[in-house]
Amino acid sequence: MRMVDIIQAKRDGRELTKEQIQFVISGYTAGTIPDYQMSALLMAIYFEDMTPLEIGALTDAMLHSGDVLDLSAIPGIKVDKHSTGGVGDKISIPLAPLVAAAGAKNPMISGRGLGHTGGTLDKLEAIPGFNVDLTEQQFIDQVTTVGTAITSATGNLAPADKKIYALRDVTGTVEAIPLISSSIMSKKLASGTDGLVLDVKTGNGAFMKTEERAAALARALVRIGHLAGIKIIALLTDMDQPLGFTIGNALEIQESIAILQNQGPADVRDLTLTLGSHMLLQANLADDLTGARHILEKHLADGSALAKFKEMITAQGGDAGVVDDPTKLPQAKHTIPVLSTEAGMVTGMATDQLGVASMILGGGRQKKGDAIDPAVGIMLHKKIGDRVANGELLATIYAEEAQRPDVQAMVSEAIHLGPTATVPPLVHQVIE
Ligand code: URA
Repeated sequence: MRMVDIIQAKRDGRELTKEQIQFVISGYTAGTIPDYQMSALLMAIYFEDMTPLEIGALTDAMLHSGDVLDLSAIPGIKVDKHSTGGVGDKISIPLAPLVAAAGAKNPMISGRGLGHTGGTLDKLEAIPGFNVDLTEQQFIDQVTTVGTAITSATGNLAPADKKIYALRDVTGTVEAIPLISSSIMSKKLASGTDGLVLDVKTGNGAFMKTEERAAALARALVRIGHLAGIKIIALLTDMDQPLGFTIGNALEIQESIAILQNQGPADVRDLTLTLGSHMLLQANLADDLTGARHILEKHLADGSALAKFKEMITAQGGDAGVVDDPTKLPQAKHTIPVLSTEAGMVTGMATDQLGVASMILGGGRQKKGDAIDPAVGIMLHKKIGDRVANGELLATIYAEEAQRPDVQAMVSEAIHLGPTATVPPLVHQVIE
């Protein structure tokens, strides 16, 4: 087989065979297929899409590109959550210790920033010492004893996704249903989870900008899960504005701590509780969603979820002191205000532009392997539906430089004002 023939076949809209897909994935993982040919194929997939058969074969090849974890040593039903990626989406960070405090076993394999969206691993690395590269045994031991661990695709787990993910991030090939669904499901199936709650983002800060595209992605993900025999449900949730008020790694850790302290923004709290309730149901730890939510609310109120977060940070080598003293998190040298130049109500936000603004500050990668600055980012002071006076503070930029007129302009342009606003619902649809 020749890679160039496979690229041409997909470019011309033909269905690839299972053998061709296997050839691509094993060749790229082994390094015999170079980045430039893989980039061309990814772009062809982006434009020509894939059939359900091709997506199944792609997921299977990626899943078997490395080890598949055997979590049978961990007692109980293992449940997990995965988001398709958003701006300010820090939900995994409060969610993992919260469900673990409620008795769930949560083996969570997470990713790094992708395109304009942040990544859970980059956020956790803002905590001094936090190790996101656990070995398989460390991962299994920690899920058994602490109840949760968040790690990168450990050692040799779905190595094909690791390489393809990094390449997609810098080649404009993120927003393709076959690529997103195979990326997520190869990691999640390789991680050995029994149940999976998917948070499929829809809106201008998501990879899927319309509800129709997001629903198509959700159906592709759920189909793969059913074929693999796991419990799976997808919630289509809003990404027409960032989640919470913070965008940027250390800032998002601070906001996650606030949620675990039973405070924090209403949307982050609500989504954490909603997704967590579905996880408790999959784990047979509650009879219905209302009961599950009450259990989780109790663990936020009595401090046990916060204590579980400290336990998790310590287990992964991090400084749990950041929970009580957030000044131990990396701090940006400068704060720059973004002021409103008119009065009105926030009617909408260019959410992806806010994600890009944080990336340009150094909070994300512009090319493969770029280092992240954990301290930088943006704190919003207004959300859709809030009133704003002329000259009022809309956002604060956390930067290494005293002046960033470029980012100030981007943030200012991204927050739209008008006479009236409709606040989008948090959950748009549930797909089972
Ligand atoms: N999350 C993933 O793991 N992969 C994607 O492609 C998008 C979001």
